[in-house]
Amino acid sequence: MDFAISDSQQMVVDTVRAFVERELVTHEQEVERTGKVRPELVAEIRRKAIDAGLYAANMPVELGGGGLDDLTLAMAERAFGWTAYALHYIVARPSNILRACTGEQVDEYLLPTVRGERVECLAMSEPDAGSDLRGMACRAERRGDEFVVNGTKHFISHADLADYVILFAATGTAKGSRRLISALLVDLDTAGVERAPGYNCVSNRGYHNLILNFDDVRVPAAKLLGEEHRGFEVANEWLSSTRLQVAAVCLGRADRALSVALDWAATREQFGQRIGRFQGVSFKLADMRTRLLAAELTTYRAAWLSAQGQMGDADAAMAKLSATEMLQFVSDEAIQILGGMGLMDELPLERIWRDARVDRIWDGTSEIQRHIVSRDMLRPLGC
Ligand SMILES: Cc1cc2nc3c(=O)[nH]c(=O)nc-3n(C[C@H](O)[C@H](O)[C@H](O)COP(=O)(O)OP(=O)(O)OC[C@H]3O[C@@H](n4cnc5c(N)ncnc54)[C@H](O)[C@@H]3O)c2cc1C
Repeated sequence: MDFAISDSQQMVVDTVRAFVERELVTHEQEVERTGKVRPELVAEIRRKAIDAGLYAANMPVELGGGGLDDLTLAMAERAFGWTAYALHYIVARPSNILRACTGEQVDEYLLPTVRGERVECLAMSEPDAGSDLRGMACRAERRGDEFVVNGTKHFISHADLADYVILFAATGTAKGSRRLISALLVDLDTAGVERAPGYNCVSNRGYHNLILNFDDVRVPAAKLLGEEHRGFEVANEWLSSTRLQVAAVCLGRADRALSVALDWAATREQFGQRIGRFQGVSFKLADMRTRLLAAELTTYRAAWLSAQGQMGDADAAMAKLSATEMLQFVSDEAIQILGGMGLMDELPLERIWRDARVDRIWDGTSEIQRHIVSRDMLRPLGC
């Protein structure tokens, strides 16, 4: 096994780190205090990311993307994880699902999104269908050459910045009551689509979620992404790559939390000595580093498998599970090491601690990841 980082990977990481420090970290306080990223700032960051060659790093070079392999991409995402997600997202990758675009969809959606001219959001979740997506009520009824969509999606991230949605809706029912799901590309300015304010979330200030209502929305059948009734096949690759991304970002957040805690332990004095000399503090640092490394190995292993085209659902699930639960532990222990100052917004720890909470919920809760991992072991035994 070779654990060395190649020169080209190191170069990518250094480039991202420099960009994060120069262009993103400087705006963290503003975003935390105002709860939004000014539209001019969004445009400026996106332009700088495009100029720096960091935009759409996940997309193949032939499509105008950065063409990073999945392992290098995970390293880059980790470096982005140092900062707030509302800022990171502006530079983030377009959804991998878009690679399923065919025919006119390529020019209308895929390529402009890779160029940063269009922005997508993705809508699966509904008030009554979260983990159990097959239970979704939003339906797209086929009528000749078009679908008519009715229903509601909620928790839809960055729908305020997007101009189209990759929408998952029920297009039929299989034997029994299992819904057949299809994916559609729907422009958000189509008649009958309403963007309603979402909820205030404790995590990721400035990164908003919205409610999308669809009332007799007519969508041409040509906007079907992938095959009719096979939306989950289209979604599967995205789900695994998104879980890898969440894991990698958690590593970056933990890097920052650990570095703040380490500096503090090495300089803060109580009882006449630096607190890092108390075993009660130093052992926390040891546990934080050990768990961070374990999550790093699980994440990079999954990313490496993905780059070989061999990543299974369970590999991505283990990466997300280990990294998100590690970050919960590391961010909490970091605050403990700082004491009261850990909770103050002068330092990034309270943000990292708050932001970490959503990572165990979105893109599949920790329980769903455990379900995927255990199913992978038990199913071959007929259980
Ligand atoms: C800030 C934020 C942004 C989001 N952005 C998007 C987005 O852009 N697009 C989108 O489509 N969705 C988005 N989501 C939705 C997210 O993916 C769901 O919240 C998540 O899948 C969980 O669904 P739920 O919240 O309805 O919880 P539920 O599914 O109701 O789960 C509640 C609890 O029951 C547990 N549970 C459920 N089923 C099982 C089971 N089989 N075994 C064991 N335990 C189980 C869960 O683990 C959880 O603890 C977002 C969510 C948040 C919070």
